[in-house]
Amino acid sequence: MAILVLGGAGYIGSHTVYELLDAGRDVVVADNLVTGFRAAVPSQARFYQADIRDRAAMDRLFETEQIDGVIHFAAFSQVGESMTDPLKYYDNNLHGTMVLLQSMTDHGVDKIVFSSTAATYGEPEQIPILETDAATPTNCYGETKLAMEHMMSWTSRAHGLRYVALRYFNACGAHPGGAIGEAHDPETHLIPLILQVPGGKREKVFIFGDDYPTRDGTCVRDYIHVTDLAQAHILALDYLLRGGENNVFNLGNGVGFTVKEVIDTARRVTGHPIPAEVCERRAGDPAQLVASSEKAKSVLGWKPRYDDLSTIISSAWQWHSTHPNGYGG
Ligand code: UDP
Repeated sequence: MAILVLGGAGYIGSHTVYELLDAGRDVVVADNLVTGFRAAVPSQARFYQADIRDRAAMDRLFETEQIDGVIHFAAFSQVGESMTDPLKYYDNNLHGTMVLLQSMTDHGVDKIVFSSTAATYGEPEQIPILETDAATPTNCYGETKLAMEHMMSWTSRAHGLRYVALRYFNACGAHPGGAIGEAHDPETHLIPLILQVPGGKREKVFIFGDDYPTRDGTCVRDYIHVTDLAQAHILALDYLLRGGENNVFNLGNGVGFTVKEVIDTARRVTGHPIPAEVCERRAGDPAQLVASSEKAKSVLGWKPRYDDLSTIISSAWQWHSTHPNGYGG
């Protein structure tokens, strides 16, 4: 019996595949390679190039492989793009998940762990954010992820599907072994963009607004190492395999850093001055997002190992400095 990782050639997906293989699991990866990289998938995993919107491809997968449970990362994930091209997000994230669930339901595959996001909360009611807090997204990306959670919930009632939604805060860092890391084209995330400056690929980094109601005016985010996120998926899958009920968990470190603090930490880690310039706010950005992950710790037994921002940025720098062109060399 195997675990199917959809979107397993992407950033968080590939790190989860590595952790699953390390734990001795039989792993099948499907990815359409639109944003993922074939080179990010180790040879021990069976790879299928397939799109979750392709019903025939999903049916073939479930007919060819004996799938115990699904881990679903196959979605678009850029806040800014979701505001300018919302229908792209509805198509891949919602329509894709609908096709996937139809195929799973028809093939009797009833367990799924999937990537949700802190963006489901919108402007938080309180810090740290609890899973029971109101979810009113301020961007289309968060809206589609929240709708995916609801789709799972209704499918569960009708067809007995069981799911865990993992609401990630800001994923960052890279595998300590150095073989895989973060590679987006175009890159939009803060830490890799900052590291492009010492990497010689850009002259400066832009700070999206310094007039937020935070300690230095820049947005506060909770940065969590990708390997810690990957471990949480395995724990969530095992929880479902043990018969655990549908659930939603935040995954973060519980400590918020401003954009300026992240840049300062990267300056210390890399020894580079990293010039920064303040520009306009980015549409859809809440001022602060910091998780309470107590529920994941108590219910799943999750123990994040990388709780220090310098260590997280060092692991990202190790990847970016040795792979300046991502998987292109
Ligand atoms: N950000 C920034 N400059 C950039 C990219 C991001 O100031 O070039 C800010 C962004 O506004 C947010 C934080 O950095 O407050 C993290 O953004 P990212 O896109 O990495 O993750 P998100 O919070 O959107 O998931």
